[in-house]
Amino acid sequence: MKPVGPIPPGFAAIDGELAIGGQTTTQLMGQAGEGPIFVYSRVMLENRVARLRAALPHRLGINYAIKANPFAPILESMSAMVDGFDIASGGELRLAIGAGIDPSRISFAGPGKRDAELKAAVEAGVTLNIESAGELRRALRIGDALSATPKLALRVNPDFELRGSGMKMGGGAKPFGIDQSEIPALARELIAAGAQFRGLHIFTGSQSLDTGAIIEAQGNVLALAGTLADEIGAALPKLNMGGGFGIPYFHGDTPIDLAAIGAALSDRFGNLPENLENTEFCIELGRYLVGEAGVYLTTILDRKESHGETYLVTDGGLHHQLAASGNFGTVVRRNYPVAIANRFTAEAEEVANVVGCLCTPLDRLADKAHLPRADVGDIVAVFCAGAYGATASPSAFLGQGPAREILL
Ligand SMILES: *Cc1c(COP(=O)(O)O)cnc(C)c1O
Repeated sequence: MKPVGPIPPGFAAIDGELAIGGQTTTQLMGQAGEGPIFVYSRVMLENRVARLRAALPHRLGINYAIKANPFAPILESMSAMVDGFDIASGGELRLAIGAGIDPSRISFAGPGKRDAELKAAVEAGVTLNIESAGELRRALRIGDALSATPKLALRVNPDFELRGSGMKMGGGAKPFGIDQSEIPALARELIAAGAQFRGLHIFTGSQSLDTGAIIEAQGNVLALAGTLADEIGAALPKLNMGGGFGIPYFHGDTPIDLAAIGAALSDRFGNLPENLENTEFCIELGRYLVGEAGVYLTTILDRKESHGETYLVTDGGLHHQLAASGNFGTVVRRNYPVAIANRFTAEAEEVANVVGCLCTPLDRLADKAHLPRADVGDIVAVFCAGAYGATASPSAFLGQGPAREILL
């Protein structure tokens, strides 16, 4: 037997079934028609943002990194809840603007921005988080050609990183950001060229469950920002401090301590160096905002035995939920939180493998999981599906097509 991950708190049962937004999974599947669905809970999104607001200093803005989940109804809901939006492509720019988000609230990071993307961002008045000297010069040229004043922040590749982070995106040689030693000269060049200096972006890592490491990284970010502002010789209008807040996916994972992070930040905001006193601060979160608010629901098509093991074969799989299969940035495959959704409150009584419908041994949703007995027609729920699910999975693979998404 292999344990499954912890089911996020806040899910209710109605008549023994998992319920989301007051509807049982059987009802939800009945309405959805064919195939698996991603169901997202608006109430859980609101609760998450409210908890962040309560724990963190008011001075700290909360940005949503939309690559975690760019579903239009989620963007529209988030627009009223968070302060800013971080995008990483021209496509995401169109999605954000299409969702009615004011371009002044958007910042655009990411290596390898095309000229057309830089132009669209400058024209819309979006802040560009510049990732290299070459990109800075292209953005300045594009601003000149448009007779527009580009809003430019510099993304720093810091010499440190967020300890224990799931994905390494800072520290040492990286395609992201500008090495910290090059920042002062480029910032002065940007200001001298007449662009609007929007400060710095320092992202140190992702998916950390280590509260101490997050507090330490935030301290390092503030210290580095102060030093760089000194070297630049200008106060920082804005500092995007990165994010990195993780969510528990696997057995033994525990949530971060928001209150401790908030208290440490409040302390530091009370003792800022002069050149950060008037700085606007924000963090950028993806999965922490949306990950636990989404569930992937898929129906069992077949139940079979092989060499003494039970297989529950579903109509879903890695083409919708690549991360749950263990093939999106993990080294050792572990089970996400899964449940038999229409028997949510039933006792576990057998060990089964839950697989998808694709012809590849990679397509596993749960290995040797202890579950209530399930049969053809029952519904499997995979939790923590609100981030890096629908848009981070190869939905064209094997001709299966995308899953439907609903926000309730
Ligand atoms: C991906 C990304 C995020 C969001 O990461 P999460 O782990 O989902 O919070 C935030 N900022 C940047 C720069 C990113 O690349």
